[in-house]
Amino acid sequence: MRTIGVLTSGGDAPGMNAAIRAVVRTGLNKGLKVMGIQRGYNGIINGEIFEMDSSSVSDIIHRGGTILRTARSEEFRTEEGRKKAYNVLKVFGIEGLVVIGGDGSFTGAMKLANEFGVKVVGIPGTIDNDLAYTDYTIGFDTAVNTVLDAINKLRDTSTSHERVSVVEVMGRHCGDIALYAGLAGGAESIIIPEQPFDFDELCRNIIQSKARGKMHNLIVLAEGVGGAEELARRIEEITGIEARATKLGHIQRGGSPTAFDRILASKMGARAVELLLEGKSKRAVGIKDGKIIDVDIEEALSMKKESDSYMYELSKIISM
Ligand code: ATP
Repeated sequence: MRTIGVLTSGGDAPGMNAAIRAVVRTGLNKGLKVMGIQRGYNGIINGEIFEMDSSSVSDIIHRGGTILRTARSEEFRTEEGRKKAYNVLKVFGIEGLVVIGGDGSFTGAMKLANEFGVKVVGIPGTIDNDLAYTDYTIGFDTAVNTVLDAINKLRDTSTSHERVSVVEVMGRHCGDIALYAGLAGGAESIIIPEQPFDFDELCRNIIQSKARGKMHNLIVLAEGVGGAEELARRIEEITGIEARATKLGHIQRGGSPTAFDRILASKMGARAVELLLEGKSKRAVGIKDGKIIDVDIEEALSMKKESDSYMYELSKIISM
């Protein structure tokens, strides 16, 4: 293998730049030519491809977002679109492709490998932490810390006004951002799609903790369950206690990556290049029990993500 390509796809995540940097510099170190592809799969189809050198990735390890930009490509979802992409890859001499993204991006990479024999390796880049085969995805830790910072601030104002505060966080169908940030932030309640939610119990807890003299009540709500506005309105209606909703939105996707995400991204980026050089394909790089691993991409996609029920139960016990 002489030439590899790297792209970021789907939603952006802090740490993607650190992963790109590791891919480029590991590739160069091993004597490869490394091509940067802009705007995800659209960038292959449209030929937005350029050669990268060591300085192309200077001064980016601490930056959020992705210097390669990211996109969602409808055309790539069709076989015709992927055929076009394959032809462009051939023209540029790209034999191996590193795809940094979430499950959708992995599915696209898998199809490119199955249909046209392109060698692909996936690196999990998404704040959602919704991929079952890996303990962590790149960007998750930064997003949790962003949410935690917001929770700390909301706690101040919630206490001053003796209000209930409902914070809606991202994660799509995965409750990990809510669970980790909620536990770390000492939230009174964490509501996630993976666990049953009892509205009456929530209201009982709010009323009882107020009666015990608790000044604030913080509820972290995963977006996969519902909206914060509606929940705050219902809480206020039933308990008679003022409730305010905050939807954190896209700030959760930005910001300088944490040390954890930078290190994770650096290790995963390097491993992805090594796998291509070993002649491997259709592998997804991950981390399990602190060790960098790789699994078959199809197997990775078929695994069902489970939430950490120990963390959930613990949060219930120690947040009262
Ligand atoms: P995030 O988890 O941040 O949303 P993602 O990688 O899951 O990231 P998607 O929008 O699902 O984001 O996928 C990114 C791109 O991957 C799509 O725009 C499309 O080009 C490609 N893709 C997704 N699903 C498929 C599929 N079933 N077949 C072919 N390509 C796909």
